[in-house]
Amino acid sequence: MVERHPTRYLAEEYERLVRENLNWELKVLESASEPICIVDGKEVLMLCANNYLNLATHPKVVNAMIEATRKYGAGAGSDRSISGNMILHEELDRRLAKFKRAPASLTFQTGFMVNEGLIPQLADKGDLLVSDELNHGSIIDGCRLSRADRAIYKHKDVEDLARVMEEAEKHDPPYNHIWIITDGVFSMDGDTAPLKDIAKIAKEHGAGVYVDDAHGEGVLGEGGRGIVSHYGLRRDEVHVEMGTFSKAFGVIGGHITGSEELRNFAYNKARSWLLSGAVPPGVAAACIAAIEVLETEPEHVRRVWENRNHLLDALQDAGFDTGNTETPIIPVMCGKSKAARDLADYLWTKGIFVLPIFYPMVARDKARIRVQVCTKHTTEQLERAAEAFKEGGKKLGII
Ligand SMILES: *Cc1c(COP(=O)(O)O)cnc(C)c1O
Repeated sequence: MVERHPTRYLAEEYERLVRENLNWELKVLESASEPICIVDGKEVLMLCANNYLNLATHPKVVNAMIEATRKYGAGAGSDRSISGNMILHEELDRRLAKFKRAPASLTFQTGFMVNEGLIPQLADKGDLLVSDELNHGSIIDGCRLSRADRAIYKHKDVEDLARVMEEAEKHDPPYNHIWIITDGVFSMDGDTAPLKDIAKIAKEHGAGVYVDDAHGEGVLGEGGRGIVSHYGLRRDEVHVEMGTFSKAFGVIGGHITGSEELRNFAYNKARSWLLSGAVPPGVAAACIAAIEVLETEPEHVRRVWENRNHLLDALQDAGFDTGNTETPIIPVMCGKSKAARDLADYLWTKGIFVLPIFYPMVARDKARIRVQVCTKHTTEQLERAAEAFKEGGKKLGII
């Protein structure tokens, strides 16, 4: 019999990650997620939150959560499929569809659970899933859980996608269904999918288009309506618009938007929806309030773009490579993971909170600091950040 130890490899694997500079070091946020916050006991400038519009602390959103919690309780008491489908969940679904100007939406507990639960149901044996090589991990997991064949195309490469689709047509027997799945905004680079071209190619092959707009919502499109609005696409061109309330909306929860048929299919089939507890009523109410804020206070979206342009210009002027960003996500390229880590450590000593991003989140030689700008950053704060980046970048030989 082989010599076996039940858990020793856990420590060995962790030690390997530490040795290779690939481990996560968790920081503790001791205040609300605001531009100036307390992290590990230190006052810092927050530049790595997904809370792009600062809705996590918007009074209307916070009050909606408190009031709904008082009225309906802390929890929903069940899965939505059983007895936890509260009036607020239904209202949220309707309000989101209205905001997206679509026939129907369905909200989930998280965005991860949408991709993990829905993708394997959309595509089964005899089908094909076609995925951008840099898609989010939740899409990768969703595809792995499916029994469909999988094909990957080069990042944003429309010609490569066309080639993959031509290849797919040669499959014998022919595929029943094909889905092209892409991030709308790629979370590590801040660039956007060429969704118009993707929709065109999909149409030529009768394929479905599934876009994960987690980082595009609240930022892109008319009034923050997201990437489908940004590219002016129709609902018969993009069949599943997926997103999350955990980023620009400032709360938590996943969602899909599309046809009535999509909604009916999803809540009858996605196991992550069917077999997991409903989000608390306070969460649903806060998400509704966040949608209302987007509908009635357009200044938040305008402001995040002004801030983003200001910081991007300053970082580029300093000589940093900021990749191909088209959004408030700004990758500051550092090369090796050690360089990204050293720069983040330096910035920390200057009271600036950013996280280094490295393998396996991105390629080994593409380590970076991912900067995320929000609405409430002041010009003074952004200039202070740019100055610290410049000093650190020079000191470490990155610029
Ligand atoms: C954050 C993210 C998700 C997961 O959303 P959650 O609601 O936080 O689980 C899915 N896809 C992409 C592209 C993301 O950036």
